[in-house]
Amino acid sequence: MANQDTQFFGHPRGLATLFFTEMWERFSYYGMRALLILFMVAPVASGGLGFDKTKAGAIYGLYTGTVYLACLPGGWIADRILGAKKAVLMGGVLIALGHVCLALPLLNTFYFGLLLIVCGTGLLKPNVSALVGSLYDKGDIRRDSGFSIFYMGINTGATIAPIICGYVGQRVNWHYGFGLAALGMMAGVIQFWFGSKQFSEIKPSETVVTESTATLRKWLVAALGLVCIAGALHIFGMIEITAISISNTFGVLLVITVVASFGGLLFFGDWTREERQRLGVILVLFLAACIFWSSFEQAGSTLNLFAQEHTATQLLGIDFPASALQFVQPGALILLAPLLAGIWLKLGNSGPTTPMKFVMGLAFVGLSFFLMAAAAKTLAPGVKASVIWLIGCYVLHAVGELCLSPVGLSAMTKLAPRNLVGLMMGLWFMATSVGNFISGRLAGAYDGMPIAQLFTIVGMVGIGSAIFMLFLTRPIVKMMGGVR
Ligand code: GLN
Repeated sequence: MANQDTQFFGHPRGLATLFFTEMWERFSYYGMRALLILFMVAPVASGGLGFDKTKAGAIYGLYTGTVYLACLPGGWIADRILGAKKAVLMGGVLIALGHVCLALPLLNTFYFGLLLIVCGTGLLKPNVSALVGSLYDKGDIRRDSGFSIFYMGINTGATIAPIICGYVGQRVNWHYGFGLAALGMMAGVIQFWFGSKQFSEIKPSETVVTESTATLRKWLVAALGLVCIAGALHIFGMIEITAISISNTFGVLLVITVVASFGGLLFFGDWTREERQRLGVILVLFLAACIFWSSFEQAGSTLNLFAQEHTATQLLGIDFPASALQFVQPGALILLAPLLAGIWLKLGNSGPTTPMKFVMGLAFVGLSFFLMAAAAKTLAPGVKASVIWLIGCYVLHAVGELCLSPVGLSAMTKLAPRNLVGLMMGLWFMATSVGNFISGRLAGAYDGMPIAQLFTIVGMVGIGSAIFMLFLTRPIVKMMGGVR
């Protein structure tokens, strides 16, 4: 029985399998992401795609935004058709194939590879977390610490990948770097294949499978139809499909999805007064999370460009590629997580409430951009910024993430009205999707204004929303109805 099993640091043995599956998946995701925007803007002569920053930022935002939005249908498909184990396995295979496509030096396989990674991550990411939850019986007190161990797996992959893939990609060959991401995911798939025999599948019932397969088929046909119509209009010169127009369309669809999801929930659901209030709280936390992630996720976009173009990337006499610097944030998170957990534990009930932790998260990420604005002001012709600025910025990001992300996840599960936990998780990932999309589009503004000005604006949005949220903490705590 899963609940008696204590073979992995006092946790069920299945947690080890899921830890390493997610570690390898995040290894491939962050290894490739560290290279992505730099590869797109690198001149063709040096093996890059030679895109301008507006186009590269639009594709970056579209890709990272859809990766997280795909978690919504990915969770649905697992719940109703495939089951979580099969979804994770298929997702892993698709991701590995996607990175293999990027390892080929062709533009068409580049786009197809991104599409495969989006579909694969949508299938894998939400369901590997669901499987972690399924290892524990309802009242098992080890559940939260199980998730903390799992979060360490995420960040272990995210720490190692930029160093290895970044170094090989930028110093040897971009495509070898992507190839390493593929190898990482393959390692994850193999160990999941063998390891997942230790725990049971979360299986949907036969009738649900048949009904849902029919629904999915209809959606796929509709989507394919829309793609064909758009393609035909493009061929006849009636619309122009470019990377930027697709990215713009995605932005509009994202806004519609957010408005429709919350509008539908708040105005058309049959809720008690308390449930409705809690949904209102979820909406405020969601908006705050969108602002947080849109600053935080610039690690892969504007901050990555700043590292490449304006930072002297040497430390202790070692000269390293810009992309490798991406290891600092997840690395700092691993080191700081026990410290923060200890502080929260010590403070107990007198510690900060959930909305207060959101205020802190926003404040830290806002501060980090004021730091970067100061860094940008030290630039002069021929003078690059010290790497210490970016290291400081990423450490502040790690503290911010530790304040906001874990409590955000658990608040979604605690505030969700009856049976809607899965949907609330999907909404949580949607905030990351919005944030990633905005962070990509901001890279388009990178050349359009002084960098110090861009970073100051981002910092002001962070601090401004922290202050706004500060005024809301009291009413929010009241509306949470006893949940801290
Ligand atoms: N760093 C975490 C992960 O990769 C959280 C990312 C996010 O939700 N923006 O899973």
